[in-house]
Amino acid sequence: MLTVLTTYLGKQVHERLSARIFGHILLSEPMARVYTRSIGHYITLAGDDTFKSGTIVASLLQSFVGFLTAMIGLLVLYQFSSSIFFGVLVFLGCSLVLIGSLIGVMMKLNATAVTLSREAGTTFVEAFNSLRSIRALHSERFVMSSYANHMHNYVRKLVQMDAIKSGVKAFPAIVLLLLSAIALRPAAQVDMTDAALFAGTVIVIRVFASLGQMAAACSQLLTDIRAVRDIGALVKLAQEEWRPLAGISAIKVSTIGLHQVSFGYDDRGHVLRDVSFRFEAGHTYAIVGPSGAGKSTLADILLGLSLPNSGAVTVNEGVLSLEAARRRFMLVEQQPKIFSTTVRENLLLGAAANDDALHAALDVVNLDDTVRSLGEGLDTRLTYLGENFSGGQRQRLGIARALIRQPDVLILDEATSALDLDTRIEVVAKLRTHMRDGIIIFITHDPEIAALADEVLPIGEPQTRAVAATQEGRAD
Ligand code: ADP
Repeated sequence: MLTVLTTYLGKQVHERLSARIFGHILLSEPMARVYTRSIGHYITLAGDDTFKSGTIVASLLQSFVGFLTAMIGLLVLYQFSSSIFFGVLVFLGCSLVLIGSLIGVMMKLNATAVTLSREAGTTFVEAFNSLRSIRALHSERFVMSSYANHMHNYVRKLVQMDAIKSGVKAFPAIVLLLLSAIALRPAAQVDMTDAALFAGTVIVIRVFASLGQMAAACSQLLTDIRAVRDIGALVKLAQEEWRPLAGISAIKVSTIGLHQVSFGYDDRGHVLRDVSFRFEAGHTYAIVGPSGAGKSTLADILLGLSLPNSGAVTVNEGVLSLEAARRRFMLVEQQPKIFSTTVRENLLLGAAANDDALHAALDVVNLDDTVRSLGEGLDTRLTYLGENFSGGQRQRLGIARALIRQPDVLILDEATSALDLDTRIEVVAKLRTHMRDGIIIFITHDPEIAALADEVLPIGEPQTRAVAATQEGRAD
């Protein structure tokens, strides 16, 4: 009954912890940490590690039951024969050192197995997300052998760990057998009746079986504790950096100020240095600069996804906190993530909007006719990574997805790069009309797009060269 109960408890722990860890990663894990860790790290945390945390309940119980029955057995043994009892104690003292070192080896193997499992998980997800490129580059065999290697080494570590665990469990019994064989050899003088010998053997077997169970459960516990430690660290950090899902602020964003903002990812130096700028509602901006200059990094700072090392970002001259304003900011990436579901779900992703609003947003990006012409309109399913849409259509879907959330600030990170020039110019003009009371920020190295903005903020160049350009060809 206890086994059934602990198994049930373990499954409950696994289920709840897994969902909670997933939530912590989505809500609280700072982007800077996500960037430096692998996908496999998080897969292992929410999968294997939460499972191990669940099995700890069972291991704890098994250790306790093993300990209790061994103690009772030892007590009975002491009553039965004090000399055998002390003999067993001496043996236990000696074997403790050996079992301890075996457990040490097992913990080292476990650490390597965890690393290998993370690497295999990362390879799997990254390969799956890049299947097209892998096939185009004919790199299937390389990726397959890399995954197979990780799995081979990982499984080897698991087998070695299992072997050690079985050894730890069987060790006392094996030694008992050897001692019995010596004691019962024909020449040995055993000063006991057959019945006493039988009873003594039964008690000692029971004690040693319990000790084996306890040692195996303890070794499992010690290796699984690493998983609990990792989960505990994540939960602790999540609590420290807890960011409740902010409701949408009632106040509209009218200005954003960058004040001497500097940022570096690590100690290799600053990506952004003393950037100051002011964005105002009703205007369109272009952040320009060469590749690697820090344009996307600046977008992350505007979105509150990265925090400046020094300087500050203010909204409405500091009246509105960046956190409160965040739901009024939208980012569209160069390659919007497409989910394997309908066009409607891809647009909504949890937001509430009726079909008219969806069609209106699609119309702004010249995609409405295309969607209406699909057999099932908004109910058409997008396939793996949205491959039944072209790159430009996926980009426009990404912009429409942002528009239905009625942002005050729309940041387009190279988000029109896959459109032909005419479509690009038309979409930008329609966007400007649609967002006439808001702020549009283009992040681009495309001079055609920069030319459509009211003001240009060059990144990666001295701030004195910031150009305030009133452009021709504005849509409004
Ligand atoms: P841009 O958008 O102008 O092409 P980015 O903002 O993407 O430039 O990158 C600016 C610099 O910061 C680059 O040198 C890039 O290598 C570095 N960088 C970007 N993201 C990270 C990251 N997550 N970790 C470490 N360095 C990064």
